[in-house]
Amino acid sequence: HSAKEQGIELNRYAHAMQMKAQERLQLENDLRKALARGQFYLVYQPQVNLQSGLVVGMEALVRWQHPQRGSVSPAEFIPLAEESGLIVPLGEWVLREACAQNKRWQEAGYRKLCVSVNLSMRQFRHSHLLDSINNILKETGLEPAWLELEITESMTFDKDRAFEQLRKIKEIGVHISIDDFGTGYSSLHYLKDLPIDRLKIDRSFVNEIMEDSNNAAIVSTITSMAHHLQLKVTAEGVENEDQMLFLRNQHCHEAQGYFFSKPIEAAVFEKKFLRDIDTTAG
Ligand code: C2E
Ligand code: MG
Ligand code: MG
Ligand code: MG
Repeated sequence: HSAKEQGIELNRYAHAMQMKAQERLQLENDLRKALARGQFYLVYQPQVNLQSGLVVGMEALVRWQHPQRGSVSPAEFIPLAEESGLIVPLGEWVLREACAQNKRWQEAGYRKLCVSVNLSMRQFRHSHLLDSINNILKETGLEPAWLELEITESMTFDKDRAFEQLRKIKEIGVHISIDDFGTGYSSLHYLKDLPIDRLKIDRSFVNEIMEDSNNAAIVSTITSMAHHLQLKVTAEGVENEDQMLFLRNQHCHEAQGYFFSKPIEAAVFEKKFLRDIDTTAG
């Protein structure tokens, strides 16, 4: 390439970088206002007990309805919210909304389910977390046993600090699971001591259990390890019946994924998984 061509390339690159930075800044600004403007909402994905076939819980997942961009994926805005610190008020909103919704469903007389809520690193480390959980449970009236908090392996990296925080959460009576299990770097040495209740096997392993025998080996090993450690185990990202049957054969307790349902809005969840079940049962 000539020097001139290289110059043009560099220019294009600089321009693209600047656009990215501007776009990011804009998105961050929009994010700051989104909470007050009521642009967030939750969707729920059912968690199914593989032995009984019953829905036993649901994971609450946040969505952002941006006025111009439409629906923005959490994969895009959670990292932004995490960096800017906005994740703390946003996470608190998610927790309150999920607990309130679960309580409303319980009061409507449906069979009681456990709601899972994702915590971010910053939220998990925040000194206010315990007060926040306690306040929200008190305000909403949800019993702690019907709430589960999902953390990731990376959050347990600072072992002593994580252990302390998890112990306090467990003391309240709230359950804890390790999300995306198998993709982080937590050693088994950590795992055996952590006060947790459940492992959620990352969907990257579950996705190809039928095609890739290595994935099948990993999934059955994690499942068996969970049993030995007396932890519950949930498979994420179950997309077809073969995968579901494989997991059931391995005695995986619960599963979540498009095979059962995509994450859906509360009203749809109620209609599909709460009302219908109760009418067939009663
Ligand atoms: P996650 O907690 O591991 O949630 C599971 C993700 O996998 C969800 O993506 C869900 O829609 C998707 N999923 C479920 N079943 C299937 C399946 O069968 N196939 C495939 N391909 N995907 C499936 P989503 O809702 O886009 O969320 C992405 C991530 O964003 C979450 O991963 C979680 O880490 C984060 N996130 C979502 N909501 C919150 C929140 O309220 N707070 C925090 N801190 N993070 C959140
Ligand atoms: Mg999760
Ligand atoms: Mg996950
Ligand atoms: Mg995750």
